Order: sequence, then structure tokens, then C-alpha cells
Amino acid sequence: MFELYNKGIKDTDPEVYATLKSELLRQQNQIELIASENIASLSTLNAQGSVMTNKYAEGYPGRRYYGGCEFVDQAEEIALDRVKKLFNCKYANLQPHSGAQANQAVFLALLQPNDTFLGMSLASGGHLTHGAKPNISGKWFNAIQYGVKKEGNDKDLIDYDEVESLAIKHKPKIIIAGASAYPRIIDWKKFREISDKVGAYLMVDMAHYSGLIAGKQYPNPVEYSDVVTSTTHKTLRGARSAMILTNNEEIYKKINSAVFPGLQGGPLMHVMAAKAVSFGEALDPAFEEYIKKVISNAKHLSEILVKRGFRIVTGGTDSHIVWLDLTPKKLTGDKAEKILEDVGIACNKNAIPYDPHPPKITSGLRFGTAAATSRGFNESDFELVGEMISDILDSLNSDEEEMKKVSQITKNKIQEMCNKYPIYNEAF
Ligand SMILES: *Cc1c(COP(=O)(O)O)cnc(C)c1O
Repeated sequence: MFELYNKGIKDTDPEVYATLKSELLRQQNQIELIASENIASLSTLNAQGSVMTNKYAEGYPGRRYYGGCEFVDQAEEIALDRVKKLFNCKYANLQPHSGAQANQAVFLALLQPNDTFLGMSLASGGHLTHGAKPNISGKWFNAIQYGVKKEGNDKDLIDYDEVESLAIKHKPKIIIAGASAYPRIIDWKKFREISDKVGAYLMVDMAHYSGLIAGKQYPNPVEYSDVVTSTTHKTLRGARSAMILTNNEEIYKKINSAVFPGLQGGPLMHVMAAKAVSFGEALDPAFEEYIKKVISNAKHLSEILVKRGFRIVTGGTDSHIVWLDLTPKKLTGDKAEKILEDVGIACNKNAIPYDPHPPKITSGLRFGTAAATSRGFNESDFELVGEMISDILDSLNSDEEEMKKVSQITKNKIQEMCNKYPIYNEAF
């Protein structure tokens, strides 16, 4: 399949072809635990690599600035129908190219430069685009940041009291709920109540949770929020892209103008077609079963790691995310990430709340189960993965010979598992 599908590239550009082939093999031969990644279906990949790449379609279905839009209109309408069904919402804009741009479009629609908004800090598991200093959201707006509890029974959990007191003090125009490392259920209703108290819009960025929501295993924020943004390629397992949802017609109109012509030119209609395909897949009852497995796999991974002496931030998980604190093992995130990659486990270092180390080092790792579950890993596979992670990280505190031994044993086991579960059956 791979040779056939990429034949044109092999003949015309062997240099790029070689990178595609190597990337396919890397994905096949590593266990992917990066929480934001997944394995899109071949149909999604095919739609994304289709003739719709050639089409300009500025504007929206039925009111474009170019001719020849009959069929791309149909593709966008199909995607819109499906996404509205999937998330039970009235209005959707599917043209943002990425999650970051979807968020920018909301800012452009609802804020003026220097306006105040409230978002979760990066250091507590929020996203860069929720007001971090190096991002446009932190540069062009007055971004106030909330975090998680430092200690007590609800250590590591969102500090709703802080959210409320910051909201009362700063009167933000928007409150953003949503995160990138937070593994627990976020209380959308509570955020709605706080937003109402201060007259703020509630924006939910469900980028990490949208697949769990589509699979009915995580609360849907649409009914509680004024506007919802999301990527489409994380747990939702679709094309690399994004979306904005709302039930409010007035906000919908503002969002449409903000996305185009406010922020973007022509939408990526090949990606639109791919989104339509992947939304179709997410509507299938099999997707709900997949998401249930993603979460139970994460719970199993988390339990093994606790058994092996690690601390899990928040003590466990309600999602695909397992947030590991390496402090009890006296290890740092950068070193752990590297040694795991060496044996064939891909993950990312991630600061833990109140991390004493800088972001390039960190005391934590973030794991996610969405990608490996897509290729077929089950609960006992994830228990084995947890044991392997523990063996490797524990071996860092032993002598070199022992380290080498553990590393070789683990590499062999990982290759065995990867061979058992091809990422694309047709590719090999
Ligand atoms: C991943 C993510 C984004 C950004 O998505 P990109 O497509 O990488 O721009 C935005 N918000 C949250 C919460 C995310 O997790």
C-alpha cells in the first residue's frame, strides 16, 4: 500500500519519499504515548491528500468568492452536519487551520487589544494560547492566569475558588476553561456560574477532550459555554485541523467574520473533506467503544506506575492523559523523555504543578493512550508498557551494565508489541 500510494513521490522526489517512508516506520516501530497524537484512518489520510488541495473557496458554502465550488460546498456541508450531530450544537465553523488559530479567531471576534481575559496557566496544565507570555494571547491581551491547588485534599485540581476570586477582581471579558495536561473532568457548569457572576463569555477549549466527548465519556461543554474551540486530530482522531462551535447565533456570525476575512484566506478544502470523513467515523458506535478503551487503558497505565513508586499528578485520570511526577524517583523530565525514546517509547516532558525545574528540564512526563489504543493495545498491553517505563526509569539509578541489560530486554519487548499491532494493516 505504501509503495502504491506514494508512487508518484518515489519517482519524482526520492529525497522527500525517503522521509515519508522513514516516518511511517518510526510510527510503526515506536509506542506512541504523546497525549496530543493519534493515528488517523487511511480514509482520512486519502481525503487529505486529494484533489481538493487544488481548490480556492474563500467564503462559506453557498456564498464563496470563487466559482467552481459546488463540490467543495458539499464536502463542507457534510462536515458541518456531522460535527453538529456529534457535539449536539447549532452552529459550527470548520475553517480554522489549527487549534491555535481557532482560539485567535475567538479573541478577534470577542476582544479588543489589551482587553482582559482569564485562562489556565501553562505551568498548571493550560495551553500556550490561553495567555502564556510568549504567545500572542499573552502579548496583545491582559491575560490573567489561574492554576491548580498546591496542597490539601484537592491538590493538583483546578482551584475554582481562585478562578472565582480572580474573575471578581479583574472582570475578564472571557473566561477560558480547558487544558492540555489536565487529566481530570473539568466542571463546565462551575465555570458557567463564575462567568455569569461577572458577565464574562465562557470559552471552552476542548482540544484534548473532544474525542472523549464525541465518545460520550466526558461531559459535553457546548450547553454551558458561549463558544467552544477544539483541534480535530487529538483524541478525536481526525484530520490535523480545528473547529469552533456555538449555540449562539450572534456569536456565530462574529466568529465567521473573524475566521474569514478576519484571520484567514482560503480554507483548506482537502482538510475539510478529511474532517468530514473522520467526523463520520466518530459518529459510528465503534468510536464510543474505542474511547472507553482509551480511558480504561489510561487508568491501567496509571495504576501500574503508582504501584511502581511514581506519583501521578491528581492521583489518577478520567481521560486519556496520565501525568507522571518523577520527583519520588529523583529524575527529571528531559532525561526520562530521552531514555524512553531510546528504547522506542515516544512521550514528552511536561512541567508538574509548582515544578521547581525550568520548562526545558521539568519534573514530569505526560503520557496519553489515544494513539496506541487506536492500533489495538489493550489493558494488559498497557500494564506491560507501565512496567517497561518503570524498569527503564528505575535502571537509571543502577550501574551501566544493568542499564544496558534492561534497555535491550525492553527494546526487544517493544519491537514484539509493535509487530503485533501494525498502525496500518495495508501498509506492510
Ligand atoms: C493542542 C492544543 C491547542 C493547539 O492546537 P494546534 O492545532 O497545535 O494549534 C490549543 N488548545 C489546547 C487546549 C490544546 O491542547
